[in-house]
Amino acid sequence: MTLQETYEKNGISPAVYRFGERVLAALRPRFDAVDEMAEQNQGKVILAMREARVDAACFAATTGYGYDDVGRERLEQVYAHVFGAEAALVRPQITCGTHALTVALSANLLPGDELLSPVGAPYDTLQEVIGIRPSPCSLAEYGVTYRQVELLPGGGFDYPAIRAAIGPKTKLITIQRSKGYATRPSFSVEQIGTLIAFCKGVKPDVLVMVDNCYGEFVEALEPTQVGADMAVGSLIKNPGGGLAPIGGYIVGKKACIERCAYRLSAPGLGQEVGANLGILPSFYQGFFLAPTVVAGALKGAIFAANCFERLGFRVIPDGTEARHDIIQAVELGSEAGMRAFCKGIQAAAPVDSYVEPIPWAMPGYDSEVIMAAGAFVQGSSIELSADGPIRAPFAVYFQGGLTWYHAKLGILRALQELVNAGLVPEEAL
Ligand SMILES: *Cc1c(COP(=O)(O)O)cnc(C)c1O
Repeated sequence: MTLQETYEKNGISPAVYRFGERVLAALRPRFDAVDEMAEQNQGKVILAMREARVDAACFAATTGYGYDDVGRERLEQVYAHVFGAEAALVRPQITCGTHALTVALSANLLPGDELLSPVGAPYDTLQEVIGIRPSPCSLAEYGVTYRQVELLPGGGFDYPAIRAAIGPKTKLITIQRSKGYATRPSFSVEQIGTLIAFCKGVKPDVLVMVDNCYGEFVEALEPTQVGADMAVGSLIKNPGGGLAPIGGYIVGKKACIERCAYRLSAPGLGQEVGANLGILPSFYQGFFLAPTVVAGALKGAIFAANCFERLGFRVIPDGTEARHDIIQAVELGSEAGMRAFCKGIQAAAPVDSYVEPIPWAMPGYDSEVIMAAGAFVQGSSIELSADGPIRAPFAVYFQGGLTWYHAKLGILRALQELVNAGLVPEEAL
């Protein structure tokens, strides 16, 4: 069977396949750069594992309180090393990215303090955490106030407004690296470093937390290496490498991480408790694979941007821009377009390929959300997935792919569904 025949058996017409090959031909130099970044980050991870003397004892299960858990301690050393941070909290007891961010915020903000986002609205699920949308147990309920400075129309930082917003109460500044469900640009680590330096110039003792979701291993530096006091993320995104079945991490200054550990477990207990229940092999191996997995996801994002841009859809980032996270937004302009795209991603999945995604009212989001994910780990968005809130501009946020080949198939199948639904004319290919 030829390669094209394999694609045909997976539902890709010869016209869509050939369109994809034409797009790909121009992308080889960019793919080489992605591979080089993966090679560099792989070296960083191996160095950290060598220096922490990772060995078979690290993979053993602990139970109960989990005192003296060597595997947990060394994994946290490995994370701290890779992120250039003083300390790390990497735990299966952190249930998701939102939980990790909640721990980092509520551990380091006290009643009367103010939280500032200088980059516009934070990710949907954080709005209830902060209390922008009222919720029991929000930071607002505990007397933490919140301020927000919008980005400039082009996506740049509004420095005068940020300076004016930093006041005596401002304790912590939160910067979201990735666009999330917005169509603003994602920020480079360098841009984040510039913004942190500016904020600390205005108020030297302010803490800065970076929501690092989807950004890990995309660049050679992480936010903690350009001045962030904390960087936070989910293990079912980039750093879990697709193998971690749960978990979150917080890396950063020792004083901040200690407070996070007290918040996560209990005052007085902190980092000393938290049995690993046998999950650590997946955390170690997933982190080891993460640079390669992220490279595959990045190739998918670049390929998708170029395919859909050629067909006249607005894509963010565009086909030529530098990448700062693994997310690719494609504005499809209609709910029907979103449904067709997600149907294709789902149909190309190794798991649950026979189901058709439909929009639903997902907890934590203020409009209906459609999600396509045929993932080994439920909800894992380092695996090939597409999702988006059903609201203008009807953008799907496409990300992941444990392998580049799967990402490619999923993108071609999404395009095929748009063709089949009459939303992309075949002669446009
Ligand atoms: C995914 C994500 C989160 C929340 O993570 P969950 O694991 O879904 O709770 C927060 N911020 C950003 C930018 C994200 O992409």
